[in-house]
Amino acid sequence: MIFSAASRALPLRPGPNRIETDRRTELPDVNECQICRTPAPLVPGLCDGVAGYRLIRDPWAGRPSFLDGNLHFSCLAESEKNPVFFAEFTHMLRAGHEEVDSLDGTPPPLTRMGLGMRQIFSGSECRVFESGVSDRWMVVRRTGPWFRLRRADLTDIERGRTPLSPAEVTPYRLPMDLGGVDDMSLLELLSALGVNGTGPQPTWRAPQPLPDEARGFLANHAKTYTPVTFEDEKHA
Ligand SMILES: [Zn+2]
Repeated sequence: MIFSAASRALPLRPGPNRIETDRRTELPDVNECQICRTPAPLVPGLCDGVAGYRLIRDPWAGRPSFLDGNLHFSCLAESEKNPVFFAEFTHMLRAGHEEVDSLDGTPPPLTRMGLGMRQIFSGSECRVFESGVSDRWMVVRRTGPWFRLRRADLTDIERGRTPLSPAEVTPYRLPMDLGGVDDMSLLELLSALGVNGTGPQPTWRAPQPLPDEARGFLANHAKTYTPVTFEDEKHA
């Protein structure tokens, strides 16, 4: 097929055509949501990212690709392709050192390190995974969104409290065209960036919207859990 200069010079149009065009001609911006292609700051409980070296297949890409970038949890939960992501993501959580097929399926295969976690709960809404080497857990909703928990979070859940997102700073470069950021509340800012949760309104330490079945399981689990490390106490 021959592309003329005129056809290449066509302006990008909004809507699905634009997404397709971006996918083919530009490297995706890892700061953008890989589903809707709008800015996606990392806000625990509302948006998180998958690094390219995890070698998780990108079900939203127009051609075989590995996911590399952020995902709005709202986009993920609404996507009809989230079962594919859920299967790939939860497999990676459990996997150790393993080979995965290259993007075009031809040898040699690629090697990746999974997180080596073990599944400790499987319910109708989510699965829960536990690290064997540190006091870390991951709750993954069957619709895709995932939540990282530390020992202090497990203690909160055991005491009937809702764990809050970490109080750490996550740098994020705001898009140039946002305007008027100084006058925005956090909620307005997140909304302008397309991050809309369905749960409680976010604050700088947002309550983590865990499924009830995960909270119930983890509250019991905390009673018998033996810590692997005591690093959380050191920083408490
Ligand atoms: Zn999105």
